[in-house]
Amino acid sequence: MEEMVENTKKMKNKTSYQPSNSWSMKFFPMATIVVFVSFFLGLGAAFLDFGIDKIRVWLFQWDKGRMIYFFLLPVIWMGLFFISSWLLNQFILAAIKQGKCRSPFAARILAFLSSLGFYLFLDLGHYMYFQDLHLLALLDHLFLRGTNLQNPYFYLAALIEFIILSYLLTYWAKDHALWPFCEDCLKWFEFRAYISFNREDREKLMDAFQKEDWKNLPDPLDNHEKEKAGYEIHISMCPSCRFKGPAQLILCEIDKDDFALDLCKTWLEKGDFEEWWNQFPSGKQGYK
Ligand SMILES: [Zn+2]
Ligand SMILES: [Zn+2]
Repeated sequence: MEEMVENTKKMKNKTSYQPSNSWSMKFFPMATIVVFVSFFLGLGAAFLDFGIDKIRVWLFQWDKGRMIYFFLLPVIWMGLFFISSWLLNQFILAAIKQGKCRSPFAARILAFLSSLGFYLFLDLGHYMYFQDLHLLALLDHLFLRGTNLQNPYFYLAALIEFIILSYLLTYWAKDHALWPFCEDCLKWFEFRAYISFNREDREKLMDAFQKEDWKNLPDPLDNHEKEKAGYEIHISMCPSCRFKGPAQLILCEIDKDDFALDLCKTWLEKGDFEEWWNQFPSGKQGYK
């Protein structure tokens, strides 16, 4: 009975990381630069599409060339679209990280404006070079002959493509701004320590982790047998406060290629974290 009371008390006190919704002086100028970069990435992708389309003339000189062109062109065009959106995403995430943006809302706005800028200039470029739009050119190439800018479905398709792009970029940006940040030291958290577990202990580990019932964690692996790990608790902390501050714990599944898949996460307050860490013998405490 007493144990139950204590458990419910623990559940009620369960805290999670709360972002401060602020950013550094650098964020606004950096965000402005990223929005301008998005224009150039859009125009650049359209210009490369245009250059690749020129290869058609050369390929069409010989019979198999037509086939190669027909199959290769959509792949290259979509590839260019993905590479330039990936690059744009890197710029957005860098501005959030360097500008210390802890506001998921501001991060979303930046990502939305950048994807809008990218997409408008991509289509503007396509319009300048081909007199059509990015997705329209692709559909035109695959299914249709002769561009018809009057067809409303083309605009609908272009709108859907834009919505998917901006959804992904805003999602990643928000996620980045929600990464824990130490407001005392003005530093992002870093993944600095970990505890490893056996693959067979899955159930017990998941249960203890989700309930934060740390006394019932399965026995962790020793440091010299960590390569056998099936699960790991990845611990991120302020690089200056270290074990004296709070920490974010992420329970991960480790696959054969050493790739870590996040399962669930929790937050330990200042003081609680140091106590939590010290429950493990030093031979089982892994440092990154
Ligand atoms: Zn294109
Ligand atoms: Zn700190």
